[in-house]
Amino acid sequence: MTDVLIAGSGPTGLTLACDLAQRGIAVRVIDRRTEPHRESRGKGLLPGSLEIFQELGVLETLAATGSGSVVLRKYFDGEHINDTPTAAGLLIGQWQIEEALRDRLAELGVRVEYGAELAAITQNEAGVRAELADGTVIGARYLAGCDGGRSTTRKLLGIPFEGSGEEEPAMVLGDVGAPGLSRDVWHQWFTSEGSGILLCPMPGTDSFQLQASPERDEQGEPLPPSLESFQRLFDRHARVPGIRLTDPTWISAWRVNVRMATRIREGRVFLAGDAAHVQPIAGGLGMNTGIQDAAALGRTLAAALTGPAGEEVLDRYQQERLPVAAEVLADTAERYERVRAAVRTPGQGTEVGMERA
Ligand SMILES: Cc1cc2nc3c(=O)[nH]c(=O)nc-3n(C[C@H](O)[C@H](O)[C@H](O)COP(=O)(O)OP(=O)(O)OC[C@H]3O[C@@H](n4cnc5c(N)ncnc54)[C@H](O)[C@@H]3O)c2cc1C
Repeated sequence: MTDVLIAGSGPTGLTLACDLAQRGIAVRVIDRRTEPHRESRGKGLLPGSLEIFQELGVLETLAATGSGSVVLRKYFDGEHINDTPTAAGLLIGQWQIEEALRDRLAELGVRVEYGAELAAITQNEAGVRAELADGTVIGARYLAGCDGGRSTTRKLLGIPFEGSGEEEPAMVLGDVGAPGLSRDVWHQWFTSEGSGILLCPMPGTDSFQLQASPERDEQGEPLPPSLESFQRLFDRHARVPGIRLTDPTWISAWRVNVRMATRIREGRVFLAGDAAHVQPIAGGLGMNTGIQDAAALGRTLAAALTGPAGEEVLDRYQQERLPVAAEVLADTAERYERVRAAVRTPGQGTEVGMERA
């Protein structure tokens, strides 16, 4: 029997795994993916996450690749309006953060077990029995569900995920090449219609993270994302002739969801990161909140595994993090609305979402 089984090897699960392994606690990490992804996704580490990563011994590796500041270049209806230097915390792709954490975890003697999908959970006073989709059974004293917004763990426990969500994608996303486009600024093109396209140069790569309002058909329905659609959006909004978008390594769509679990502990099972709360990306708080959840859960599990594991100790995590999740949800929903309104004003961009109300 292992001390802690972690379902999910995103930023939350890997941070928790490094924290526990560094304390000498026996941990296993499973992921239903067959291999790591290479998608930029959450690309900004805030100071609180950097502190945690310093403790875990990964900050130096991340700082060697990432960028500590970024200039936002704002255009409106194709015209360059202004440049805003922004302290980014650390700008770096999510896959690179996960890679650094995986490398650190391997140094601590733990490897992520891929192709291992959590499918069923039972628990008693001594521990948790986790069954994988292939029938393998893993016994653990505690289980951490760090398995993302569609969390199997949360669903198996029957924990409601309350809030609201939109059916229609608000944004299309991807990682693309754009040979000839300057890589020293984050380009943000907005239009008087309220639509736009953003291209952020990702450190340590040749690619840009693309974010754009979806293209629509004649009925006004959003079209699925594709390289061809990205190019048409770029030509329409950026109006920079001669730039061809190339080599997509990630193409996706993002929907607004503002939801949180009504509880994040059920006996010996805990939820953390997107499994516990999902929120708009404005302000860059999603991944960062998951990293903070992981640090808090690491403290609770270490206390429970090294001392008397009474209800009071086990409840500490939920007491600390549930109010934070509620606050982050309200805060990011408000930041998102602020950005949506601000980008109709020439010279304003995503920096509006980084400011506190
Ligand atoms: C375009 C974009 C920009 C973003 N920008 C930011 C930003 O600037 N700052 C920020 O903080 N956040 C940002 N985010 C949000 C961020 O990506 C997420 O909050 C983050 O990935 C959540 O991490 P997680 O580890 O909780 O979950 P995930 O990253 O979703 O990882 C969950 C893992 O669990 C695995 N899994 C799922 N089900 C099972 C199962 N049954 N068994 C085993 N494994 C399972 C999955 O394969 C996955 O690897 C952004 C997201 C997008 C899309």
